[in-house]
Amino acid sequence: MYDLIIIGSGPAGYSAAIYAGRSMLSTLLITGSAPGGWAALTNDIENYPGFPEGIAGPELMERMRQQAERFGAEIIMDEVTRVNLGAHPFTVETYSDEYQAKAVVISTGVSQRMLGVPGETQLAGRGVSRCATCDGFFFRDKKIVVVGGGDSAVDEGIFLTRYAREVHIIHRRNRLRAQRAAQERAFQNPKISFIWDTAVTEIIGEDRVTGVKLKNLNTGEESLFDCDAVFIYIGATPNVELFRGQVDLDEFDYIVTCRNGHTSVPGVFAAGDVRETTLKQVVTAVSSGARAAMEAEKYIAALEDRAYPERELG
Ligand SMILES: Cc1cc2nc3c(=O)[nH]c(=O)nc-3n(C[C@H](O)[C@H](O)[C@H](O)COP(=O)(O)OP(=O)(O)OC[C@H]3O[C@@H](n4cnc5c(N)ncnc54)[C@H](O)[C@@H]3O)c2cc1C
Repeated sequence: MYDLIIIGSGPAGYSAAIYAGRSMLSTLLITGSAPGGWAALTNDIENYPGFPEGIAGPELMERMRQQAERFGAEIIMDEVTRVNLGAHPFTVETYSDEYQAKAVVISTGVSQRMLGVPGETQLAGRGVSRCATCDGFFFRDKKIVVVGGGDSAVDEGIFLTRYAREVHIIHRRNRLRAQRAAQERAFQNPKISFIWDTAVTEIIGEDRVTGVKLKNLNTGEESLFDCDAVFIYIGATPNVELFRGQVDLDEFDYIVTCRNGHTSVPGVFAAGDVRETTLKQVVTAVSSGARAAMEAEKYIAALEDRAYPERELG
């Protein structure tokens, strides 16, 4: 029996573990299959405060992990397969064990959305990727297509120019959604070009990607475009299947919380990208993880009827 179980090891999960550990809660963090979360798969994080030159995502997440351990959090590499949030104490099952806790923080993040076109699944890992940090290196001096127009597409497109001969960003609209600074850098990068108002309708290749089929969304015109790799960044879906029917979700399947992270179930909190939030970044995930842990401390203190050291939680 733990005071707190944290599901997920992205910035939200580790931040919750740091704050819970410092509050002397016995804390178990279950990493899931992606230790460090998306940030650990991001090459350069340039907008996290305190690192004026930027910091490599894997290094930042390794530091957070060490900090969580230093404050006593137990961290296990396993994946949660089932939860019962309907009875207290809560039960959390993984592939290898079953645990109970007085409070739970859900910080399972999001999965990148699929295009849903022929070739995408068949050629995954053979030119189709969602991780420039992991796979960019394999496409040195190659021609790369990036699909999407948000922050991830533009940032990762810029990163891929380190390796690629040329990067073509294909977007369904005629303007980007990414932050202004990133847009400017992309427009000024001589290796990047844009194909607007266009959808990828098929990814072509036998045992590796050789091209994509495109459709102009204004004219309906179809064309073939040769390339060696396709990196897809078209948004995300929250990882909530385990919790569906147990906590309230919004219309887009994000977990509904109050601003301090309480879900519809008392004692169950959500933090990071899995909850409805307008800005999905490391800095906001870290902030919500800290708040969720502090609210969990308060909840447990009330359960045990011991005085909670009053402090301003905002
Ligand atoms: C390509 C890309 C580039 C980005 N670049 C930046 C950037 O430069 N700066 C920035 O601030 N933000 C960036 N972001 C956004 C940032 O990475 C996220 O906002 C942040 O990682 C969210 O943290 P999180 O802890 O909520 O979730 P995540 O980082 O998504 O972590 C989710 C965690 O949950 C775990 N999990 C999932 N299911 C289970 C389960 N069943 N059992 C146990 N664990 C589970 C996973 O293993 C993972 O550890 C980027 C995102 C992407 C996709």
